[in-house]
Amino acid sequence: MRPSVGCVAFLPDVSVARVPAPVSFVIMRPAILFPLFAEIRSLTGIGPKLERLIGRAAGTRLVDLIFSVPVGVIDRRYRPRIADAEPGRIATLTVEVVAHQPPRDRRQPFRVKCRDASGSFDLVFFHAHADFLARQLPPGETRVVSGRIEYFNGRAQMAHPDYVLTKDEAQTMPAIEPLYRLTEGLSQKVMGRAVRSACERVPELPEWLDPHFLRARGWTSFNQALSTLHSPRSEADLSPATPARARLAYDELLANQLALIMMRERQRGRKGRTVVGDGHLRSKALAALPFSLTPAQLAAIAEIDADMASPMRMLRLLQGDVGSGKTVMAMLALLNAVEAGMQGAFMAPTELLARQHMEALAAMAHAAGVRLALLTGRERSAARAAVLAALKDGEVDIVVGTHALFSEDVAFRDLGLAVIDEQHRFGVHQRMQLQGKGHAPVDVLVMTATPIPRTLALTAYGDMDVTRLTGRPPGRKPVDTRVLSAERLEDVITHLRQAIDRGARAYWVCPLIEESEKIDLAAAEARYAMLKEALGAGHVGLVHGRMKTAERDATMAAFKAGQIQVVVATTVIEVGVDVPEATIMVVEHAERFGLAQLHQLRGRVGRGSGKSTCLLIYHGPLGDIARQRLKVLRQSDDGFVIAEEDLRLRGAGELLGVRQSGIEEFRLAELGVHGELLAAARDDARLIFARDPQLKSPRGAALRVLLYLFGRDEAARYLTTG
Ligand code: ADP
Ligand code: MG
Repeated sequence: MRPSVGCVAFLPDVSVARVPAPVSFVIMRPAILFPLFAEIRSLTGIGPKLERLIGRAAGTRLVDLIFSVPVGVIDRRYRPRIADAEPGRIATLTVEVVAHQPPRDRRQPFRVKCRDASGSFDLVFFHAHADFLARQLPPGETRVVSGRIEYFNGRAQMAHPDYVLTKDEAQTMPAIEPLYRLTEGLSQKVMGRAVRSACERVPELPEWLDPHFLRARGWTSFNQALSTLHSPRSEADLSPATPARARLAYDELLANQLALIMMRERQRGRKGRTVVGDGHLRSKALAALPFSLTPAQLAAIAEIDADMASPMRMLRLLQGDVGSGKTVMAMLALLNAVEAGMQGAFMAPTELLARQHMEALAAMAHAAGVRLALLTGRERSAARAAVLAALKDGEVDIVVGTHALFSEDVAFRDLGLAVIDEQHRFGVHQRMQLQGKGHAPVDVLVMTATPIPRTLALTAYGDMDVTRLTGRPPGRKPVDTRVLSAERLEDVITHLRQAIDRGARAYWVCPLIEESEKIDLAAAEARYAMLKEALGAGHVGLVHGRMKTAERDATMAAFKAGQIQVVVATTVIEVGVDVPEATIMVVEHAERFGLAQLHQLRGRVGRGSGKSTCLLIYHGPLGDIARQRLKVLRQSDDGFVIAEEDLRLRGAGELLGVRQSGIEEFRLAELGVHGELLAAARDDARLIFARDPQLKSPRGAALRVLLYLFGRDEAARYLTTG
């Protein structure tokens, strides 16, 4: 018998929780995929330096290269005579080398004079090595050169040609080449070669798509589609709508959907418990609130109640803008569990948020007479021991905490519900870890403050049911949103100073400059220094992701208490600190943030009684899409509308903010374009799962390859071998 690689350790029942873990982490990647998961350094010509550069541009395994989508094409078929060569175009010229003209000083380029029957022009090299050029371009010989034609002082030239070849060599020069995303220090030539070599190593993979479906769509095999992807013949071939790209996008989406279904059904299949409260605690808690629930909240709680009452385990995502009233929902769900004689856990992504939730719940808990405790990993050991004992004995009804709740030593008398305020900080794994803490699989309610478009919700949370809290959050005021050029920074600071003199509090979010925390941090520190100078040192604080939590919390506490009035921040504040007195939000380099992120940032203000302003500062000139995105923010404050627009605009080619928002990134699928494919992939995945849940059929075996090809190892681990 072959060993099972089921997932006991990944998702422990209490009865098997002591089983050691290793077996579930054995990677069972099919052998046929081994070549693709080799490191790129196994390619000839790729040493540590190129590995680093290519790693940054694409990834470190061959599979990352083959899934690098071309972003442009170079067409070398334009072969004019020198006299006819149009400036700005890529041209391939056949020329005779005439003479070398070394530079007179170091700032001048090295020029190689060339001619054909129609006229003459120069090849231009900066920082050239004379002897190298002498070898490449011997005077009197004929060379084929290809590159961009420019004019300098009325004379045609070509700087750093892409190719300098003999006539023989020129036979092998590709007429049309794909261009790939690069990183500084990496050339197209090297990247192109790496991708080509990686593609040569792709084994012939079995077909995992249904043959009828494939034919109906007019698609080719995976291997064929991949090779088409990397041989665009024109700009039009770069479109995500081409059949080859669509096929690959579909493969990626199918892997995603199949993995989600497998994980979800595994959850579902496990019995949960029936959790039904009698409402006696809830009614007391609700009576203590100074407001009544909105229709959206009532609908949401009805869905949650139904899930909890069902004998199946609840796995529900509650989506709603910051301030839409999710915390109240969480408390009502927790009270439901307590009424049923069980306990509840409420987990936040940070210490600060855990404390904030604790405060928010205190009044309701007090009114209902339930016992709350906090567990964050920062309590001193005696206090911690007391909380642990109380949880175990059932003397605490609801515990609020951070991921400290995952710790081994945390045990409950009877955990009935786990609420996870996700804010995109936890992954599927952690969600499941907490679920394992109950006697039977615990009902789980995940809350997220990032409204996700329907298509994205399917890909990121397809393992869950979704409830949306829509509509303007109760008690929210519209925020006056303005878009300004960075040239007006001085004015902004002047206004800020006046506002502060009047007692206002402001966030100043620093430029997201690049995907380097270090550089972003430098920018934040520079701005912090400047604002201290302009506004007075005592008024300004700095928070950033590299700070110790305690330090960051202290600064935020000072801001909350009004001891400082301006917080300069990298985007860490996005996560949901509540300071109702803050009425000004300044975001620099707004054009570089994702729409969802800007919306979240703006949601930090407009929470109190004062009138709030959000200043989005851009460093121009603004591209068309960036302009449209900022316009969306000015026109709407509905997170769901903004999210849909964001996706639509991203479909138009911009991919900002994806990583920050924690939403799954696809390499081949573009959800703005491939939404229809996603729906088809979802249906396909359901059908596959219904017919062959263990992927044992021949098609199932091919689908296993698909899962691993797209890195869905954790789902594939649910399968037994064979
Ligand atoms: P979220 O957790 O979704 O960010 P909260 O639950 O913290 O939002 O709610 C934001 C604020 O709105 C809180 O002060 C809360 O008391 C208040 N609130 C919640 N529901 C309502 C409601 N139905 N009517 C008025 N205010 C509400
Ligand atoms: Mg249930």
